[in-house]
Amino acid sequence: MLRTLESLGSLSGKRVVVRCDLNVPLKDGTITDDGRVRASLPTLNALINQGARVVVISHLGRPKGSPDSQYSLAPVAQRLSELLGSPVTFATDTVGQAAADAVANLKDGQIALLENLRFNVGETSKDDNERNEFAAQLAEFGDAFVSDGFGVVHRKQASVYELPQLLPSAAGTLIEAELTVLDQLTENPQRPYSVVLGGSKVSDKLGVIEHLLPRVDSLLIGGGMLFTFLAAQGHKVGSSLLESDQIDTVTRYLADARERGVEIILPTDVVVASSFSADAEHEVRPVESIEDTPFGADGLGLDIGPETSQLFSQRIAASKTVFWNGPMGVFELSPFAAGTKAIADALTRVDGLSVVGGGDSAAAVRALGFDDDQFGHISTGGGASLEFLEGKKLPGLEVLGWQQ
Ligand code: ADP
Ligand code: MG
Repeated sequence: MLRTLESLGSLSGKRVVVRCDLNVPLKDGTITDDGRVRASLPTLNALINQGARVVVISHLGRPKGSPDSQYSLAPVAQRLSELLGSPVTFATDTVGQAAADAVANLKDGQIALLENLRFNVGETSKDDNERNEFAAQLAEFGDAFVSDGFGVVHRKQASVYELPQLLPSAAGTLIEAELTVLDQLTENPQRPYSVVLGGSKVSDKLGVIEHLLPRVDSLLIGGGMLFTFLAAQGHKVGSSLLESDQIDTVTRYLADARERGVEIILPTDVVVASSFSADAEHEVRPVESIEDTPFGADGLGLDIGPETSQLFSQRIAASKTVFWNGPMGVFELSPFAAGTKAIADALTRVDGLSVVGGGDSAAAVRALGFDDDQFGHISTGGGASLEFLEGKKLPGLEVLGWQQ
């Protein structure tokens, strides 16, 4: 059983260390998508309202174990303060004097954010002792620990795996909410159940396909990975993204699906471009003739075509449960965003549970102008939600009492 906030008893006046996932995308020091900060608010507000002294810790990006200003959480502290509507003290180090002072100065109901966990080698170290030492330093700052960074629960890292073992610990409400939804996607989903997969690489998604194939009614394939499926069916795919070493595996999935009566629905048309750029020439082609454009074998499939968008949309909108991971095309370039937009739109029309998972997928729906509340759930964890759906054991959940 997952230990929840209530299991920690009254936290009034107590110092509570909270591991959030505030790993937001930044461009020139500005947050381009604050979805993860917003998703952290319910737990933080619950603690503040109880009169806890809240010490927030998080990572941002992939610094190499030492301070690196481009990965500072300072802009996040400011955004967090705006969203909470109250001041957030920012400590310029994670376990040094600045952090100790920030924690010592907290009054009941106040909140501090410590600098990036990954400025310290101990956070992600492969050495158990090094991780334990760093976790022990963090544990000094709290009387209790709340784990709420769903995006990192698949990682065996100091703040995710060791720290919860050093203090009375529980999951926050974000982790609870994520698990409730993901559980519905694996246990007794309402049918018809469709899973839509896209993104760049098939090899990233093999585990999910394998685990979900026996559970779903249809599997819709778009994004870069569709070309490996088309190649498995004998189609030429020009210079599109192709993982030749996965063709055999994909062929096996197609046969397995046929046997189980699960439909794997592949695109019937794609948008073929002359090059990977926003001003490339492009045309819609049936999947049988991807190389029959003026670009020949140099042509790149960068989005699903309109016929496919319609086919997928109908199937999605008629489902009772839909999980979508991975953009349908290179949505970052506007001429190739239509497929992703159509699929997102279809998800908003699902009469049942619609879930968007994956960092780029979540960023895509927001960038394309959708609101979070148009979907049943937007998962904050890309890798974590995929590993959960693969049926893997997640270290950061197991330490909180969760059993798959
Ligand atoms: P998520 O983070 O949601 O799990 P992925 O990381 O798997 O998604 O994939 C996202 C990336 O896939 C996007 O940057 C997008 O541009 C890329 N992509 C989608 N379709 C294609 C395509 N046809 N060719 C190349 N890249 C693609
Ligand atoms: Mg991604």
